[in-house]
Amino acid sequence: EVDSFKGDVTFSNVNFAYEDGKPILKNISFQAKAGEKIALVGPTGSGKTTIINLLMRFYNIDSGDIKIDGRTIQDYQISKLREKIAIVLQDTFLFSGTIMENIRYGRLEATDEEVIAAAKMASAHRFIKHLPARYETLITSGGSSLSQGQRQLLAIARAILADSDILILDEATSSIDTRTEIEIQQGLNRLSEGRTSFVIAHRLKTIENADRILVINQGELIESGTHEEL
Ligand code: ATP
Repeated sequence: EVDSFKGDVTFSNVNFAYEDGKPILKNISFQAKAGEKIALVGPTGSGKTTIINLLMRFYNIDSGDIKIDGRTIQDYQISKLREKIAIVLQDTFLFSGTIMENIRYGRLEATDEEVIAAAKMASAHRFIKHLPARYETLITSGGSSLSQGQRQLLAIARAILADSDILILDEATSSIDTRTEIEIQQGLNRLSEGRTSFVIAHRLKTIENADRILVINQGELIESGTHEEL
């Protein structure tokens, strides 16, 4: 087994249907080179999340091939595959425990200093240091005592700590205050540096900054290129 991925990702003629048999992805082909930022755009229900589900092997494809670093993903041990891919979702999984424990979930053997360094890189340190017990503050399951923006900052810190080779990001759609929004952008920029990243993009700025945009419509890749090209 490999220790790390370079992060080349290739989809070749990928077809996929969920259990109900309705075709959801139709002949999807694209290549992401190591370190590139790819924006996935398209209307709701077009298949963006499904592409991610297949890359993570939450489902198996019906035909075609998905390769990472030139090797079909079926050939990797599933746990290894998922270890190499970090996901930052709109609503991050937080468990009942301290802030420290929740960030450390990214890499369980990390020291307190490493957790705090990751939080600083993620721009999460500012809000954490104003909490009553700072890193020892207890959060309830689901993190309801935190704002959505704060939860996303913790997810970014966790992903920075995990140091994965490939990053998947589902950009927040809900309104987040400007300061937190800026911090999230800073955190994400640091997180995605040097990693192949796939962003389910909702903001124009993200799309403008992407190395490549994949436009999905009804399960088909209808356009691909840079912002200038499209
Ligand atoms: P959104 O922007 O709303 O998140 P999306 O582009 O990510 O949408 P997907 O979540 O990939 O779209 O969904 C694509 C299609 O697959 C939709 O028609 C959806 O109803 C269907 N779908 C998603 N998950 C399942 C499932 N588990 N079983 C059956 N159909 C599903």
